[in-house]
Amino acid sequence: MSASSESDDLFAMPDLDRGAPKHHFPHREMPGPEAYQIVHDELMLDGVSRMNLATFCTTWIDDNARRLMAQSVAKNIVDKDEYPQTAELERRCARMVADLWHCPDPGSTRGTSTIGSSEAAMLGGLAAKTRWRKNGGQGIPNFVCGPVQVCWEKFARYFDVEIRQVPLRGNKYMLEPDDIAAHCDSNTIMVVATMGQTFTGLFEDVAAMSAALDDLEARTGLDIPLHVDAASGGFLAPFTAPDLVWDFRLARVKSINASGHKTGLAPLGAGWALWRTAADLPDELVFDVDYLGGSMATFNLNFSRPGGQAITQYYDFIRLGRTGYTRLQSAIYRVAEHLAHGLTETGLFEMIHDGTPTRGISAVSWRLREDPGFNLYDLSERLRSRGWLIAAYPLPADRQDETIMRAVVRHGFTHDMADLLLADIDRCIDQLKKHPLSTSLTRKEAGGFTHDATAVVSDEAIVTEVQDLRRAAGDDPANIR
Ligand SMILES: *Cc1c(COP(=O)(O)O)cnc(C)c1O
Repeated sequence: MSASSESDDLFAMPDLDRGAPKHHFPHREMPGPEAYQIVHDELMLDGVSRMNLATFCTTWIDDNARRLMAQSVAKNIVDKDEYPQTAELERRCARMVADLWHCPDPGSTRGTSTIGSSEAAMLGGLAAKTRWRKNGGQGIPNFVCGPVQVCWEKFARYFDVEIRQVPLRGNKYMLEPDDIAAHCDSNTIMVVATMGQTFTGLFEDVAAMSAALDDLEARTGLDIPLHVDAASGGFLAPFTAPDLVWDFRLARVKSINASGHKTGLAPLGAGWALWRTAADLPDELVFDVDYLGGSMATFNLNFSRPGGQAITQYYDFIRLGRTGYTRLQSAIYRVAEHLAHGLTETGLFEMIHDGTPTRGISAVSWRLREDPGFNLYDLSERLRSRGWLIAAYPLPADRQDETIMRAVVRHGFTHDMADLLLADIDRCIDQLKKHPLSTSLTRKEAGGFTHDATAVVSDEAIVTEVQDLRRAAGDDPANIR
């Protein structure tokens, strides 16, 4: 019999008896099961995404959502005419989100699904830039913001808009509404407010920012719109902090983006961009495509894109409704608060965001109270040895010399998992105290895995790190090289 007889063990097959092709386009073919096993097994090294508390993105979806995703795998969302019901579900979702965010007329406004908040943010920014030009704006446009996610730096660079990031004042973590006016001028196309800062998880005070801009308009006549980046907050605050006014209830808010694939609970690859009224999205940005004998407006940076995410988002919306989302998100916040409580109990940390639903997203961020002989990068790295990914990173300008840590608590992270994590944190702290590293890790050496930065780890850093870990583990120094 040939080597591929069914009774043969997969791991004795010739293709598994050698390394996988890595550097050149492979010449030979191999049977599907073998290729599958190679790819599947390599990915084990990625670890367990549900233990990744650095990401904001969905890491747990139910079986129904999985089935819908699998059934939609071949559907291109851009082909509105070919897949009219996918287009219809997307449209319904946009209307539902418009309703959720208190759009004055959810039925007539413009909204679209995107691949994520980054694309949705770019669309919001482009609409603001186009409105400004149409109103006679000349020269180099700018926008004003506090500490923002990297997508806004991308928007600035890719679309020739100056980003005016207001530096952090004193002991503040967020943009102070009073600081806005000094950075605005007649070329300011928008102010970007963040509902759920990447760094701390805190909500910026959108209502106070809006009031500051009202005041600026009364004094100078400058009428500057707000765009709200509600990547994570957009599907939390409406359910768990309904009295917080941050959305289209504020007339100055002209557009909002959110990630369906974060707290919207959709699988990865779903975002939403919504405008207050149809007029806030200039026609120049709208392209008509064929749809059921007529046409349908589209406004996206991408062309082909999978349809499953919007389909599954619709499933999430009708399955959970307001009561379901409220129940589920409240449960997640309770876990975040439990985690914050446990971290405070260690006595080592000061909470920046303790998971209170009215203050920020379902996340916890903290800093060291004093120097315990190790830094947060050391702790992050040590926790990684147990499979937990928890981001440590410096604050933005002007507080870059401070390091903080953040854990995003998401659907699928339970009270019990928080207890397991807290026990591991205690254990890691004990170990770091007992076996201090000869030199603490820097951000890059610790992997630098935050959701907003590219991870860069040099080979040299890995070697040093492994040496440090072996020293810490009590290996004979003579054997460490
Ligand atoms: C995650 C995030 C983004 C980017 O969203 P993607 O969906 O990952 O493209 C933008 N802004 C904020 C505040 C975020 O948290």
